[in-house]
Amino acid sequence: MWTNQVALVTGASRGIGRAIAFSLAQRGAAVCVNFAERAGAAEQVASGIKAAGGHAMTARADVGDFASVRAMVEQTEAHLGPVTILVNNAGLLYQATLETFDQKQFDHMRRINVDGIIHTTRAVKASMGTRGYGRIINLTSIAAIGATLPGNAFYAATKAEAAILTRRFAMELGPDGITVNAVAPGFVRTDMTQGRLHGAEWHSIERHVRERTIAGRIGEPEDVANAVAFLAAPETGWVTAQMLAVDGGRMDYLACG
Ligand code: NAP
Repeated sequence: MWTNQVALVTGASRGIGRAIAFSLAQRGAAVCVNFAERAGAAEQVASGIKAAGGHAMTARADVGDFASVRAMVEQTEAHLGPVTILVNNAGLLYQATLETFDQKQFDHMRRINVDGIIHTTRAVKASMGTRGYGRIINLTSIAAIGATLPGNAFYAATKAEAAILTRRFAMELGPDGITVNAVAPGFVRTDMTQGRLHGAEWHSIERHVRERTIAGRIGEPEDVANAVAFLAAPETGWVTAQMLAVDGGRMDYLACG
């Protein structure tokens, strides 16, 4: 069991973030379950952790707003102790082509997917640095490295930004004992994917991905949570500036080199 670990997981009310919150709590971390709107869902995650004997709290904060993020970090530190693990999971997928591009929607997505990572990292860096210890894990996507589902180009661009920030922050924070890594999920069953597709459309895309995946199936949130837990572990101190693809072995972009 991990001792004295406090994890802040952004966007932990649903999907991958929810699974990460449970996974880190299972290993002994106290968890702040961040959410944007769905307070009830976040409460359910925190209650589930507490029911299993763990420590958890919820915090509403828009990761795109620095003041709100800073207040959440202060709240977490007051209730659970200094944040030792930051998981930047909150994210938004806005689908568009060059034809349908909308600047406002793109800016909104980028504010969450990119600015969010900058704000949270800035908010925890001093406290982690003072203690000479920290684990930061950013959720990128295999879209950032060439997987090509239609309509995801602008989303992919935000995730590529998250990937380079991961490596650069690793360089900047490494001397303070803080590792910074990324997990790049493939196609995972969550509201982001399944929520927007129905019936035949969902089955068709699921089959499309399954047929191009070595493991022969799409991902579940827990598949990603396991990888995050590895990078968040106290003993994983000699892995930094890396991006781990967790995609069941997708072949449609591997083939492109
Ligand atoms: P999801 O099911 O859509 O859940 C999104 C989460 O982010 C929710 O908890 C939501 O909170 C939160 N959120 C949204 N805007 C926020 C904001 N401004 N501030 C704080 N929290 C906010 O997403 P998911 O599929 O689990 O994806 C999680 C991460 O993995 C994202 O970064 C996504 O880009 C990445 N990813 C997902 C897939 C996939 O196939 N699903 C693939 C590659 C990468 P509320 O519940 O309060 O709205």
